[in-house]
This record gives sequence, C-alpha cells and structure tokens, in this order.
Amino acid sequence: MKYDVIVVGAGTGGALAAKTAAKLGLQTCLLERKKAEFVGDKVCGDAVEKKDFDALNIPLPRGEELENVIKASNLYSPDLTVCKSLSEKGSEGYIINRLAFGQRLLKEALDTGLEFQDEIMVLKPIFAQNAVVGVEAKDMKTGEKKEFEAKIVIDASGFHSPLRKAMQSPYIENEIDKSDIIVCYREILQVGGMDYDPHCIHIFLSQKRAPGGYLWFFPKSEDRVNLGIGVYADPKYKVKEYYQREVLPLAKEPIEIIHQGGGVVPVRRPLWSLVESGIMFVGDAACQVNPLHGGGIGSSMRAGIYAAETAANAIERGDWSIDGLWEYNKRYAHEQGASFAALDLLRIALQRFSDAELNFGLKNGLLSNQDIMDIASGKTVRPGLLDLIGRAIRGITMPELLLNLYFVNTQLNQMKNLYKAYPDRANFERWQYAVIKLYKKMKRLIKPKQI
Ligand SMILES: Cc1cc2nc3c(=O)[nH]c(=O)nc-3n(C[C@H](O)[C@H](O)[C@H](O)COP(=O)(O)OP(=O)(O)OC[C@H]3O[C@@H](n4cnc5c(N)ncnc54)[C@H](O)[C@@H]3O)c2cc1C
Repeated sequence: MKYDVIVVGAGTGGALAAKTAAKLGLQTCLLERKKAEFVGDKVCGDAVEKKDFDALNIPLPRGEELENVIKASNLYSPDLTVCKSLSEKGSEGYIINRLAFGQRLLKEALDTGLEFQDEIMVLKPIFAQNAVVGVEAKDMKTGEKKEFEAKIVIDASGFHSPLRKAMQSPYIENEIDKSDIIVCYREILQVGGMDYDPHCIHIFLSQKRAPGGYLWFFPKSEDRVNLGIGVYADPKYKVKEYYQREVLPLAKEPIEIIHQGGGVVPVRRPLWSLVESGIMFVGDAACQVNPLHGGGIGSSMRAGIYAAETAANAIERGDWSIDGLWEYNKRYAHEQGASFAALDLLRIALQRFSDAELNFGLKNGLLSNQDIMDIASGKTVRPGLLDLIGRAIRGITMPELLLNLYFVNTQLNQMKNLYKAYPDRANFERWQYAVIKLYKKMKRLIKPKQI
C-alpha cells in the first residue's frame, strides 16, 4: 500500500505530525520502534511551557500527566549569589509525567483512525529518481525486513535519525558536530524535603561545575525532583562523575532513585533545510531544540504540525519535490527558527565566557534577565541609550566583557533578521554564506576561556 504520508517516530513531534496529517485527510501511517505502551518513556527534564500549548491549541497537561505547576524559572550565576527570575509575568510551566504525556499524544493521534505500527525499526530511506519514496524497516517482532511507500516521509525519529544520516543532499547535514551537542544525565529522586522553592525550576550556570551546559533542579512535588546536568560531548567531561560531584548534593536527603538515565541534545540552529524531495524533518532529527536550555518538546510539536500542514498543501498541489515542500522551511524559520538561531549564537558566547565573567555580567545586569527572556521569546533586543550608558558605567571594570556583550547583542539581532527572511531556494546559497559569516565572526572575536 502506498500512503500519502509516513511518519517515523511517535514522540512529541511525530505524534503531532501524524495526528495533523490524518485530520487533514491524508492517508497516514505512523511507525514506531518501541512497543506502543512505552511511547513517551524518554529521559528528559520533563519541563514544558504553557505558552507552547496555547500557541498550538493543544490541551494542557492534566490528570496523571501533570506533576507540578511551575511559576518561575530561576537562573543562578556560578557564585550562586545571583538568582534571576526568568519568567514572564503571567506565564507558567509544567513538570509532566513524560510517559503519561506521550501516551496521551499517541492516543490523540490514534483517535484520528490513522494506521499505527509499533515495534517497527526504520532503517533507511528508499530513493527513486533522487527523491525519497518510502522507508525500509525491520519488524522487531518477526525480524522480517519490510518496505513502506509514501508520497512524503516525515522523519521524527529523534537525534540519531537513520534517515537524516542517509541523505545525500547539499541542504541536509548528515552528522551533527560534537561541539553542537550536549550530553546529559539525570535522575528522578524521592527526597526528604527541599531547600529550593518547589514551584520554580532552578538552573545553575557554571563552566566549572557543568562545562558547556548547566545543572538543573526541577521539582516534581515537595518531595520528588528531576535532577540533571548537561556537559560538552567530549570524553574528557565524564557526565556521571559531574552529576555525582556537582548535582547530587543539591538533593536534600535523597531516599530513592525513581528513574535514571542519559541522553543527548542537539543545541544548535535547525538543519540548513528541513526538507528534500519526498522527505521532511521534525524535532530532534531536525535540531529544532532551544539551544540555550535544550527544551524541545514544544518546538517538536510545533514543527510536527507545520510539517503536516505543508505536506497536505503539497499533496493537494501535486508537488512534493523539494520546492513543493520548501514552504515548511520558511514558516518554521519565521515562527521559531529565527529565535533558536539567535539563541545558538548566545549559547556559543556563554560557553566562551569564564565563570568570573558570568558572575560579573549577571550581577551587574550587563546581560539582563530581560535580555535573555526577550531573545528566548523571539523579540529583538535593543537596549535604549540610557540603559546602554548605565551598563557601560556598571561594566567599566570589565571593558572586554562589556564590548563582547554589546557585540553579541548586535550579532543576535542580525541572525534573527536573516532567519526571519529565510530565502527561496534560488537565493539559499547567498543566505547560507551570510549565516556562516556571522558564526565565524562570533567565534573569531569571542575567544574561549580556560575552564
Ligand atoms: C536529558 C534530557 C533532558 C531534556 N529535558 C527537556 C525538558 O525539560 N523540556 C523539553 O522541552 N525538552 C527536553 N529535552 C528535549 C526533548 O526531550 C526533545 O527535544 C523532544 O523529545 C524531541 O521530540 P522528538 O519527537 O523530536 O523526538 P523523541 O521524543 O526522541 O521521539 C522520537 C521517537 O522516534 C522513535 N524512533 C527512534 N528511532 C526510530 C527508528 N529508527 N524507527 C522507528 N522509530 C524510531 C523513538 O522510539 C521515539 O518514540 C530533554 C532531552 C534530554 C536528552
């Protein structure tokens, strides 16, 4: 049977893509390597923002899915003396039960009547005339090889996507550079109380304690916490050792480990192109993760919806070549990719600042909590003249840092503008050149410090 759309992976991105495609009347097949009852069981910080649900019109977490309501996010500088509340007024977030949430998304997809096959491990794309026309897979129950054909394949199989790795396209990166990956380890712990506000999430920045990443303390209740760390994907930084030494002491009287595990997160701009002829990429497979905090649940759901809507339009027009699907690139870049690309530059800058600079910059408001919030929510950050003078006076004893932050701010705005104007395919190379130039400039001018 030839489907309109095959969605690979029933995670947050895939479930939303499949549900949306089926609701739009496309013959949809959802393939998942896990058993159905384990869909959603993923090592995660379990934090989601309300605004993602509101923007996408998705019912909020409820019942057993909802473990905690979060009122603010606190960012701590390396010396722990600064604690900035990063939450916008009126916004809130949730700590979810990841498995229950994943099961809900899967059920909502299945309720559309689409075809679902679990325990199917997709191995590689099938190509014909330079376009993807289906996937080759292995049935995990029988060991049998199977082929599935479709007009369009939506790949939502996560960071290790075998489909992305098999693409031969100037627009799709097969491998993600190690410097753009964060390796994480986290435990869910039953604890004997809490020294931190149980209705805030707590993020600790420090190059010494979490090189390249951060430590997190996300309360699930007054006596249960999701505790974790992300560090550079470099064997010299042993993530479990960092966890034992730097993170575990944050837990008050740890009583029991409820769940433990590791994972990787791509923390960079989205793929150059999210489409090729006959195929679209969604979620971690497409590097659609917030580069600053590694959150990808909301963005993968958003991308899943956009991809399916573009697929429906393309099929209606009878053109699912790269040009027929290109619209998804533009829409995603405009709505989310622009702020993620800007945050990627900020991530690179922050990774290059020393703990002393982070302490000074955060304490003196050179990089304010409002700046970070604004960048994260896609706004353009342009401090007024008085604000700039104030920052200049406060930063006078660290002139290099002051200049660097001013430079970073200008680059972020340029990057955002470039992505907001994501090009037609004919102008792609010129646009790509301009983006690469911004990255090179940032890396040339802000030198990494010794950790
Ligand atoms: C330690 C850690 C903490 C995180 N914390 C947060 C957080 O607090 N908040 C947040 O928003 N994000 C967080 N993230 C990121 C977030 O989990 C991901 O960005 C998000 O789940 C991406 O969704 P996805 O649908 O792209 O991929 P996934 O959710 O990974 O789903 C991929 C699906 O594809 C299936 N699959 C994989 N390969 C195949 C194959 N070959 N054939 C068939 N099926 C396949 C998998 O079984 C899975 O069901 C965290 C990630 C990690 C690793």
